[in-house]
Amino acid sequence: MTNLEVRPVEEVCPPGQPGGYAGNGPCLQLWPAREVPLGGVRAMNVFRTLPQRGLPTVGAWCFLDSFGPDRVAMSVLPHPHTGLQTVTWPLAGTIRHRDSVGSDVIVRPGELNIMTAGNGVSHSEFAVLPHRPSPGETSDAGTELPLQRGLQLWVALPDGERHRAPAFEQHRDLPEVTGDGFTATVMVGSFAGAASPATMYSPIVGADITCSGSVVLPLDPEFEHAVLVLDGGLTLDGQDVPPGPLGYLGTGRRLLEVEALPGTRFILLGGEPFQEELLMWWNFVGRTHDEVAQARQDWEDQADLPDPTAEGSRFGLVRGHGPEAGAEAGRIPAPPLPGVRLRPRTRS
Ligand code: MN
Repeated sequence: MTNLEVRPVEEVCPPGQPGGYAGNGPCLQLWPAREVPLGGVRAMNVFRTLPQRGLPTVGAWCFLDSFGPDRVAMSVLPHPHTGLQTVTWPLAGTIRHRDSVGSDVIVRPGELNIMTAGNGVSHSEFAVLPHRPSPGETSDAGTELPLQRGLQLWVALPDGERHRAPAFEQHRDLPEVTGDGFTATVMVGSFAGAASPATMYSPIVGADITCSGSVVLPLDPEFEHAVLVLDGGLTLDGQDVPPGPLGYLGTGRRLLEVEALPGTRFILLGGEPFQEELLMWWNFVGRTHDEVAQARQDWEDQADLPDPTAEGSRFGLVRGHGPEAGAEAGRIPAPPLPGVRLRPRTRS
């Protein structure tokens, strides 16, 4: 998905520390979600839990939006990315993904889309809608908009990988691992002895975990971790973690003991603390203001090219959005850059 903010500001993300943002070792901090001002996707509730002031990244995870559940026709026209991987994890509903490396795929709950932007990619995402009867057709069954719910995450690419060529992967058979009281689907990295086939560029983990009662989960103590509860609720370190906020767990945990309400489902994110300063603006992850401003300019300039696939077109062409495409014609223009350059933040 695109960053839906109408007037995004630059987010300077200071480098992580080997001990994580809370200092060395384990902790539990609840970072509230904030509702994102809506741009392109009308009436869809979007809640952002990364980046935060004081918690810009968890490992290389640098962006986490939850959307839905809502009955809206998600339609996100072509827009660009740089310097990151997008990780799309639908929880309900079905999304058609098209991109400038030629992909045109449907992604369903349980399946993972990973798009590596590298130096520049563009893509679109549309909800797959039920058949709408044309005049004269009698059947009006199945015309209700399907429920849409899901997660859109970004992973920052490390400096040595962020200028690579763009790429796309879809994984339909992610490993599922069952332990004492839990079942986990491993989206990226490794968890509880199972490894995802997804191509990642830093030590990282992402898992979708279902559990009930008292459960002990194995973690990598070198990683910092966070949890996002989707359904139910967790109690850990004597504190409740409900759906909504991101629960930051710090580093140094080899085992995570949780008490889970029946049918609890949560996302576990983690990775080695990302020790590079990032500058994020709109859909770009860079290192400097000038770099991000150049990416914005390259996307805007591309709107005027007669053939966006021609040499020199940084973000390429997403097929199927030309003038003949009706409601799916067009592209998302870049918002205006903020008038001031922000200074790097200090960690709170
Ligand atoms: Mn996107």
